[in-house]
Amino acid sequence: MASGSIWKYLSCALLLSACSTVSLAQNFGQDGTQKGETKAPPVLDVHVHAMDGNFPGLAPMCPNTSKFTASDPKGKEEPFGWVKEPCTPALYPSASGEYMKEVLAEMERMNVTAVVFGDPKSVQKWKDAAPARVIPGTSFEDGMAPGKRVALEELRKDFSIGGFKVMGEIGLQYEAISPSDPSVDAYFALAEELDIPVAIHMGTGGSGRANVTMPKFRGSMGNPLLLEELLARHPKLRVQVMHAGYPMIEEMLTLLQANSHVYVDVAGLIWSYPIKEVNRYIERLMDGGFEDRVMFGTDQLLWPKLMAYSISIIQNADYLTPQEKRDILYNNAARFLRLDTGQSK
Ligand SMILES: [Zn+2]
Repeated sequence: MASGSIWKYLSCALLLSACSTVSLAQNFGQDGTQKGETKAPPVLDVHVHAMDGNFPGLAPMCPNTSKFTASDPKGKEEPFGWVKEPCTPALYPSASGEYMKEVLAEMERMNVTAVVFGDPKSVQKWKDAAPARVIPGTSFEDGMAPGKRVALEELRKDFSIGGFKVMGEIGLQYEAISPSDPSVDAYFALAEELDIPVAIHMGTGGSGRANVTMPKFRGSMGNPLLLEELLARHPKLRVQVMHAGYPMIEEMLTLLQANSHVYVDVAGLIWSYPIKEVNRYIERLMDGGFEDRVMFGTDQLLWPKLMAYSISIIQNADYLTPQEKRDILYNNAARFLRLDTGQSK
């Protein structure tokens, strides 16, 4: 997801069908604290946004809607192309001022630790509110202004003394810029020098209405193979391909096959495309032999129950073994982030 208007937020991914409280939700009190003996196994969500916004009037959201609708530029066009269809239950945004608190309560309830991305000040707020559950991430894009950049030395401070652990979300695709573009190379050189992994938006977006809401977005700039020059220039760089380059599976598999510093996250795509297609995409990544490089992510934004819903898609995937589910939900990200966990979970 890249910063900008609400439709940009939505573009990163989008829509819900069975937000039945996932099975992990048992044994917890109404305040989100655990009451029983059994603790849910840990989950790492590598793709959360440090929003704390208030979006009054936003309609509830249906995930995994079944199709995109055509649009005619002659009339007034909808800002996104997901079909409007009934779903049960729909996901509701938080009341004003409640979002961060509700998401952190969900994380506590489901034993989730998350990489939270955003400008340093916003991320720090999340970190202060839940120090043990938040891994801070920030990027070189300066908030709402496309093309504006954070000063290199400022970013160096964030990562060397500010405690930030991942450089992301990098949303160059929304500016029609390739990740291998020389104009941003100094930032990736910094990440390689400091041994900080980078998290780059690749693939999803446009929401069927790029012409209406994000004229600079280019699907072609999300091609995973555009990372090749960058990786050749920086052979030690560790890359998280956000949204797993969806829907460019052949290109994604080609890159994963060529470079084992590359991991993917399934954030956003997991809840914003038809469920059959989502499962097929994840299955292709697994069948391709990359079961140790697929990481769980939500692209958590706006709707606090989105994380539980997204976890349930992995939990309910009949093509994954119990061990593969644990690897996606935790172990692969723990390895990528070099968390000192002692053992796999
Ligand atoms: Zn994104």
